[in-house]
Amino acid sequence: MSDLKLCQGPECHQYTTQDRLKGMKGSKTYQTRRRSSLNYGEFCDTRCQYDWLSKYATQAVNHFGRLKEVKHLTEENAWTKTYRWDYERRNGEAQHYYLNKITDEQRPLTETQYNDNSYTLNER
Ligand SMILES: [Zn+2]
Repeated sequence: MSDLKLCQGPECHQYTTQDRLKGMKGSKTYQTRRRSSLNYGEFCDTRCQYDWLSKYATQAVNHFGRLKEVKHLTEENAWTKTYRWDYERRNGEAQHYYLNKITDEQRPLTETQYNDNSYTLNER
């Protein structure tokens, strides 16, 4: 048993790199890459990510919901998380804050809120 993840790129085994060549001497084959962690989500590299998107993007969009009308950036959904380095302080900690891209209003954020992907000021 191993915890290795398989690259989900449909053509991964088609790329003839040395690290994909596996097996016993005399019966080696180019194989799908396996990694303990994949840097591109489900894929070993951007080429495999692109191959998957080329093949499945339309099906995936149909499955998860196709955008049917134009979206607008407004004051209500223009909040973005950002940070700046605080050179005034001795230890130069990053100062996290919310910035509204329409109004330029800034609101303080804790580092925990900054890292919490479910925390948002934006209305849907
Ligand atoms: Zn791959």
